[in-house]
Amino acid sequence: MNRLEKIYEGKAKILYACEDPDLVIQYFKDEATAFDGKKKGIIHEKGVLNNRISSRIFKHLEERGIKTHFVEMLNDREMLVKKLRIIPIEVVVRNIAAGSLAKRMGVEEGASLKDTVLEFYYKSDPLGDPMINEYHVKAFNIARPEELREMEAAALKVNKFLSDFFDERGIILVDFKLEFGVHGGKLLLGDEITPDGCRLWDKTTMEKMDKDRFRRDLGKIEEAYQEVLRKVMQ
Ligand code: ADP
Ligand code: UDP
Repeated sequence: MNRLEKIYEGKAKILYACEDPDLVIQYFKDEATAFDGKKKGIIHEKGVLNNRISSRIFKHLEERGIKTHFVEMLNDREMLVKKLRIIPIEVVVRNIAAGSLAKRMGVEEGASLKDTVLEFYYKSDPLGDPMINEYHVKAFNIARPEELREMEAAALKVNKFLSDFFDERGIILVDFKLEFGVHGGKLLLGDEITPDGCRLWDKTTMEKMDKDRFRRDLGKIEEAYQEVLRKVMQ
């Protein structure tokens, strides 16, 4: 499948059309951004690592009955996926308090939670992805109520499958972000599942193995992404 015209260029990926109008090619870049795009940088070979990590994880989820956009990995930086009408909601699932949740609730990063937390954010760069709830989704017609329920149920299943998957590999899945879209009338999990959009902590050392190394200038970023790839391939 060959790349045709560019459809969209985002902060971490480029989407290209291909011969099949139902499919698109996701090209993974090395660019990294944080804090609503205010911090910019390059993580050497991130595109290659994220393409491999995401492909492996989507395959794992498909094998467990989660419907995703994944078709196949084409080469180092390109993944063939089903073309989606993306629902502009970022679904965040959290198992441990970190990042914006720790700040908002005034707890230490790493504080345990009595139950899983699921949050919705409105996907809008100019607005800085504000947090929303199901009332906003309904009132602003961002998604249909049944779509939201389906996204919520799928996100919780993904959390179960991936928490176990990472746990078996010595990694704690602290939190992560998912995006969904519609293809042929069906809701599919889209975008990517990589250390860019997940918090992953080493179970023994509690070292961060994700984009927080970039956000917080912790160094050894490529090494951390490489280690995640090595472990997810086990
Ligand atoms: P951003 O748009 O936030 O800068 P990226 O650089 O990751 O993010 O760009 C990828 C874009 O492609 C995102 O906006 C995402 O919602 C969208 N997307 C992900 N998967 C698909 C898909 N299968 N079909 C169409 N769009 C998709
Ligand atoms: N996340 C993401 N994209 C966003 C916002 C958050 O992928 O635009 C991920 C982030 O990597 C983390 C989880 O969602 O794994 C929760 O992020 P949080 O709300 O703590 O925001 P942050 O402090 O990371 O901006």
